[in-house]
Amino acid sequence: MAVHPAADIFTSALHVEFATFELDKVQEALMSGPDPVSAHEEVETQEDVAWRDHRIAELERSQRRLQRLFDISKVLTCFQSFERTVAEVFVLIADALSLRSAIVMLETGRSPQILSWQAAGENGRRLEVAKAHAQEVYRDLNRFRKKLDEGPAAGLMAPQPPASAIGTKSETTRNFVMLPFAVGHGCIFGALQIEGRGEMEESDLFFINVVVNQLAIALDRDSADRALRISEASLEVANRELREALAREQLMSRTDGLTGLNNRRHFLEVAAHEWAVAQRYGLPLAMMLFDIDRFKLINDTAGHQLGDEILKRVARAASERLRAADVLGRYGGEEFIVVFPGSTAQQAAVVAERIREAIAADGIETRSVRVSATISAGLAEALSDQDTLEQLIRRADRALYDAKAKGRNCVVVDSS
Ligand code: GH3
Ligand code: MG
Ligand code: MG
Repeated sequence: MAVHPAADIFTSALHVEFATFELDKVQEALMSGPDPVSAHEEVETQEDVAWRDHRIAELERSQRRLQRLFDISKVLTCFQSFERTVAEVFVLIADALSLRSAIVMLETGRSPQILSWQAAGENGRRLEVAKAHAQEVYRDLNRFRKKLDEGPAAGLMAPQPPASAIGTKSETTRNFVMLPFAVGHGCIFGALQIEGRGEMEESDLFFINVVVNQLAIALDRDSADRALRISEASLEVANRELREALAREQLMSRTDGLTGLNNRRHFLEVAAHEWAVAQRYGLPLAMMLFDIDRFKLINDTAGHQLGDEILKRVARAASERLRAADVLGRYGGEEFIVVFPGSTAQQAAVVAERIREAIAADGIETRSVRVSATISAGLAEALSDQDTLEQLIRRADRALYDAKAKGRNCVVVDSS
């Protein structure tokens, strides 16, 4: 619901119009009084005094109304909640006009929301009468609503109330005035009813008309702000979900689903980076490949599910014994790979031995059998600048093959 761009201009125009209206009235009062020259020459009569008092009162009233109108503008500019804003506006209206009660109705659902104010010392039952009257007239007004929805400025302009809405119905309703307003091109509909202490004058109506228009504009802005905040919030949620989904996807593309280790592709990316760093700074770098011994047999005897469990335990046992800088990955089915940046093959072999021992000591108890696995590991170290990462892995693989050939459950360091 966008605020009509003409909204502020429209209100300012009404301000100016209202000010002009008040000044005209004062001028009219000045013109209709006795001739000021003769008043100097002659002795001031009681009539003159009364006329001057009236003039002063008239000026004071105009000044007060304009002041209140600007105060109302300020309150509406810092629109907080509908309830708080209207409560403040009620007090300011009552300070400008002589009121018994004021009631605002706003369409919020099936029936309008009602906010009321009553002057101090007024009878509570009288307010109930005012509310009943407001609801009755509001129903009448709703029939005019179709007209409000038509026309370009319908959402901003509070039309003059229909004749029936200005209290002419009975004694009780003589001092009532109701002005409807529509917000967001008629999406929100409401009305302000005031009950004066006497009959409403034209200037009172003008004043209330300006207030109602300002209220409509403030409500319009507030509902637009609210819609914006809601869409911002849902955008934020969607954005967060997207970020999380992306992070999940990125993680999944890097990790092995069963063990949670780096998958082969990601491992090779990280290893290539470590390889480049080691080459550039002339640092040692060791590579280890290890493979579960006779894993096919374990699968065949204990079942594939238990085989999976062993794979996870081997992965955990290895990662728990590595430094933060070492990178572990699942290289193939039951084959794992580690790169040790900054380590020689001999240093890495110490870690490899610890891993081998830990895995050999671990076992899974089932109701019928105790299953334990062993690993064979092959290690190699980066040699010269002619060496490549692929060659290093190949040498580690050869060492692994030697470990298998030596009888398994052992660590072999490449000797080339
Ligand atoms: P070796 O000691 O020579 O390495 O013998 P091995 O039986 O371990 O080697 P082989 O290559 O013959 O068998 C590997 C087995 O690992 C076969 C395959 O079914 C199993 N395997 C590969 N990936 C998985 C997996 O994700 N889960 C399970 N449970 N088994 C797997
Ligand atoms: Mg194997
Ligand atoms: Mg294998």
